[in-house]
Amino acid sequence: METNLVVGAGFSGAVTAYLLAEKLGEKVLIIDKKEHIAGNSYDYTDENGIKIHKYGSHIFHTNNEKVWQFLKQFTDLNTYMHRVVAVIDGIETTIPFNINTLYDVFPMSLAKRLEEKLLSVFDYNTKVPILEFQKQNDKDLKFLAEYVYEKVFLHYTNKQWGTSPKDVDSAVTARVPVFISRDDRYFQDKYQGIPVCGYTRTVERMLNHPNIEIKLNTDYKDIKCDFKRIFYTGPIDEYFDYKFGQLPYRSVNFKLETHNHEYYQSNAVVNYPCNYDFTRIHEYKYYLNDISSKTVIAKEYSEDFVLGKNERYYPVPKKENTELYDRYLAEAKKLNNVYFLGRLGDYKYYNMDQAIERAIEVFERIENK
Ligand code: FAD
Ligand code: UDP
Repeated sequence: METNLVVGAGFSGAVTAYLLAEKLGEKVLIIDKKEHIAGNSYDYTDENGIKIHKYGSHIFHTNNEKVWQFLKQFTDLNTYMHRVVAVIDGIETTIPFNINTLYDVFPMSLAKRLEEKLLSVFDYNTKVPILEFQKQNDKDLKFLAEYVYEKVFLHYTNKQWGTSPKDVDSAVTARVPVFISRDDRYFQDKYQGIPVCGYTRTVERMLNHPNIEIKLNTDYKDIKCDFKRIFYTGPIDEYFDYKFGQLPYRSVNFKLETHNHEYYQSNAVVNYPCNYDFTRIHEYKYYLNDISSKTVIAKEYSEDFVLGKNERYYPVPKKENTELYDRYLAEAKKLNNVYFLGRLGDYKYYNMDQAIERAIEVFERIENK
């Protein structure tokens, strides 16, 4: 009864377990139904010495000083800054669509004209979500907006979400806004990088505490004891036996390939918005500059989540899904000493830093009670 139960050993669960153990000196049992810790951030070193991100490329980035300082207790991070190359009409360019992209994909005279028009309408360094960017009156800018919509967003979003960009929450495509800048990095956060010891080792260090016991291959439904508090980072609809229906998720399938040459592509991630059935190809050795005569890539295919068939990866941000989630949240609020958090517990499209921030926030509410 004096022990806390944490369900899920991803970042949300691991941060919670660490804080309870270290700051409150309490006992924690952390369980995960998978055979490993670190949740979707899990990585491992393969036989070629290449660190593979099992569930797709994970790049840490944040503007949150507190989260950054928290993470740095457990690992150093390198200074990797993520860029994404997209292949548009066979041309390799960088996205988010930015001023460099204009010069890559259009003839010089047209690119120059579009750049001048853009700078007459938008301030330099402005980020404009595509659905906003489409609200243009000028003929050239209308052309540009339609080009970006069609070549970058339409087909990719269809592959990723199974619907058009207009049918997913506008925040989803706003993650990759048109950027009126020459800064062609994927993220502009102050802090970004890859843990030099890997994500799994980082989480392992968080959980390496005398007050923490870890049980893998253990599902919450098989746990029968009473606990002081429960921190649930699994799916909130599953906790309530789907009594209002299932919350929809998208799943992803990664097809790994090992190639017998040093590099496969020009960049860690190459997006294929218009071609093929996969959305993007990850080449993992770029993240930590792993040295090997071979290389490992993963082609990422999106599909609907189907219970019992595949894993939950992305909550689907949509009005009706938020309403369904709110019904589960109302049930959650009736419980004593059960806290929901994480991508699955909160049904929110969190990045790792947001998952860590949320876990710290839940802990601090308890600490200050
Ligand atoms: P998870 O990592 O999903 O952990 C939840 C854990 O709970 C899982 O291990 C699961 O097995 C366990 N669990 C669930 N139900 C039960 C149960 N009933 N019993 C026991 N255990 C259970 N973020 C970034 O910041 N940068 C990126 O570049 C990035 N790239 C991403 C790429 C992809 C393809 C995906 C899917 C996500 C990406 N993310 C990225 C997001 C990142 O993965 C999440 O923010 C992070 O994993 C959230 O951690 P979590 O602990 O909330 O959830
Ligand atoms: N997106 C797109 N084309 C791209 C990249 C992104 O249409 O080349 C859209 C797509 O809807 C995607 C969303 O922007 O789901 C967010 O992209 P992000 O790279 O942030 O997705 P994640 O890395 O979380 O899968």
